[in-house]
Amino acid sequence: MNILFASSEAVPFSKTGGLADVCGALPVELAKLGHPPALILPHYRKTRYCGQPIEPLGIDFIVPIGSKMVSGHLLKSVMPDGNTPVYLVEQDQYFDRDELYGADGKDYVDNCERFVFFSRAVLEAIRLLDLKIDVLHANDWQTGLALAYLKLEYGKLPRYQKIAGLFTIHNIAYQGQFWHWDMLLTGLDWKYFNWRQMEFHGNLNLLKTGLVFADAISTVSPRYAREIQSSPLGSGLEGVLQARRDSLFGILNGIDAKEWDPQNDPHLPAHYNAETVERVKPICKAALQKELGLPRESSAPLIGFVGRLADQKGLDLVIDVMQRWVQTSDVQWAILGTGEPKYHKALEKLADRFPGKAAVRLEFSTPLAHRIEAGADMFLMPSRFEPCGLNQLYSLRYGTVPVVRSTGGLADTIVGYDPLAPNENANGFAFEEYSSLALGEALRQACDAYRRPEVWQKLIAVGMNQDWSWSRSAKEYVALYEKTMERSGVTTN
Ligand code: ADP
Repeated sequence: MNILFASSEAVPFSKTGGLADVCGALPVELAKLGHPPALILPHYRKTRYCGQPIEPLGIDFIVPIGSKMVSGHLLKSVMPDGNTPVYLVEQDQYFDRDELYGADGKDYVDNCERFVFFSRAVLEAIRLLDLKIDVLHANDWQTGLALAYLKLEYGKLPRYQKIAGLFTIHNIAYQGQFWHWDMLLTGLDWKYFNWRQMEFHGNLNLLKTGLVFADAISTVSPRYAREIQSSPLGSGLEGVLQARRDSLFGILNGIDAKEWDPQNDPHLPAHYNAETVERVKPICKAALQKELGLPRESSAPLIGFVGRLADQKGLDLVIDVMQRWVQTSDVQWAILGTGEPKYHKALEKLADRFPGKAAVRLEFSTPLAHRIEAGADMFLMPSRFEPCGLNQLYSLRYGTVPVVRSTGGLADTIVGYDPLAPNENANGFAFEEYSSLALGEALRQACDAYRRPEVWQKLIAVGMNQDWSWSRSAKEYVALYEKTMERSGVTTN
């Protein structure tokens, strides 16, 4: 099977979030399974410093964007595995900028135009590079239009007739909505600007466009696939997804088992596995307490949090519980993240007032993220919604017990421990209701269990012995590509 991944980001070429991790890891796993894919990405300013060799191909193209013609060039690189080809679309006016989608908290005003161009470039590249493609795998709103062009324009040409389109939703909260006149930029007939296809409450919606024109749709966990079919998690697109529920699949993301491996992690002061965790993890904990200026109390539960400081991640609950607990319990907190100013302020205040209890680092630091995963006793993810979530999977691998809200991928991966009816397969603590009361109760149960070593070590062992690597999920994607090909040709157009 020949797959072309179209994405606006992929590690190591560009990254703002989980989309880049998926598009960096999954193609390499598919190659291992005998389905070597190719990737196509924009060539951003940051891409130049990705560490991979990039060569010009001498292939230029020109596409219509509204009433003008815009030219671009194709460059070639390769994934760090040395095999998977990566094609980069160079168009400096659109992509040679400091950031991928916007700066200073504001989206670039021409984002629609930039990704109309990229989506058209994807289709042109197939012809110009003479790629034989079975499935075009588009990801998130930035490449939703590529599937519309495939069905409505290019699909009429022999080379494209047999290409099936898969669309993956990584986070439905980001939809690529633009004012209706941007429809002119797409070059598609206004007849498609209707509530069943590209229009959404008067706007052009590029995520919806991808959903409508794909042969099959996937998202990054089975639970999230169900949740987005109703309000509020469908973010207004629940009706579209319900209508396409027979073509909607959920596949959990995997983790990069090389980067996140407590046995070989260069960021850690000591290394361990499931056999040595009980002896070595306290060394990592003591080192983390020292690094963060927390008292080196081995018996105080240390709770870690790493992530975007956004409403999605349940920061209001975390801050509420911290405020109530800092003076009344011996629990310590290690928080790493950047995001909304209101959370920065509240967390800074807690850290200033209670330096012995709350350590807060408002930065992006991969090494510290690794050390928190290894040094904390518990890892907190009280998300409002979570398409898949990666940190809980890293935590399981690092013997750090996740405390999560049961939503999306968190519900699919974390089996909560029930002290009244202890379950053999429990690997963490889970709560349902989005409230600080429910979070506080889950944390209280976790702290009780922490003080019972036989219970705690069992929870750690279950998590550490689970396999959350990409090799498992990649097999499911192979089956999904086959289904996508079967469904090809049955969509609305
Ligand atoms: P999302 O994609 O919604 O941000 P995920 O849990 O799927 O959440 O992935 C987030 C990734 O980004 C994780 O690998 C996490 O460790 C990392 N990350 C987020 N914020 C930071 C930070 N401040 N420092 C280091 N790593 C971070």
